[in-house]
Amino acid sequence: MNPAHPVVTPTGRRPAPPRRAGRTPERTRDGLPPMICFRVTRYCNARCGFCLAPPDGSHPPADTLGQRVDWLLAHGVRTVHFCGGEPSIHPALPQLLAQVQARGGRSRLTTNGIALSDALLSALRATRTPVKVSLHGDRAQHDAIVGRAAFDRTTANLHRLLAAGVPASVQTTVVAGAAWVVDWVAAFCLDAGVRRLSILPFIPRGSGYARRDEYGLAPAERRALREHVGTQRRALNGRLELRWLDFATRPLHVVEADGTLRLEGASEGEDVLLGHVPPPPARPAHA
Ligand code: SF4
Repeated sequence: MNPAHPVVTPTGRRPAPPRRAGRTPERTRDGLPPMICFRVTRYCNARCGFCLAPPDGSHPPADTLGQRVDWLLAHGVRTVHFCGGEPSIHPALPQLLAQVQARGGRSRLTTNGIALSDALLSALRATRTPVKVSLHGDRAQHDAIVGRAAFDRTTANLHRLLAAGVPASVQTTVVAGAAWVVDWVAAFCLDAGVRRLSILPFIPRGSGYARRDEYGLAPAERRALREHVGTQRRALNGRLELRWLDFATRPLHVVEADGTLRLEGASEGEDVLLGHVPPPPARPAHA
């Protein structure tokens, strides 16, 4: 580690790792987790009403992204989870996947599946990158949630991933009044040959804060949803791995598109700024 660039809190102290009951989270000696969410861009080709990281104009160039990936891997991060914004719209993503593999790391990708170029598909296959595709219900529900006609592209690209042998799973955000999507998406996954489905209950951060009255799950509805997911998990055991992924209780380590390192909570007010991925040293000026 370069001691000139430790991962520190704004107060100068190393951040305490988040606690979870029953186990001590693994950390590198610089306080980083073994896997980190890496925001390639904050641009997106959708406008989801609950977006955790809505467009803010950040869209770093390829060399900046490559330098950040190198820094993370050099400081003990083993898995770079590419996310966004929508990472698939950044032309550097295929080369970033190859770079992670060349440095001995592993990659993951979360995508809305709207755009999947042949180059990206090849890179995902070559690097054996697991891909999580966001699908939020049937055509009407999905398109309403993502703010555009996207269902046909997303499902077609999910099928392309599966046909290419890329390990692809699905994640679904559930909002108020839409608990039915759990069963709908589970049936879709079984039919498509998807083996893992993550259910994300809505949280009011990002764009979701303004939509919290419309999308927010009342405590009883959230409890019922969780119980239903548990029931379905047992019923589908062996055919579909059903997961409950609640970011309200699972803080997430993130490298933002502007290079800041954060521990993200259920709302922006709970976020912890951990530091920055340092920029590369300035080149000496030519005489
Ligand atoms: S949730 Fe994902 S796909 Fe939807 S607007 Fe945000 S970044 Fe784009």
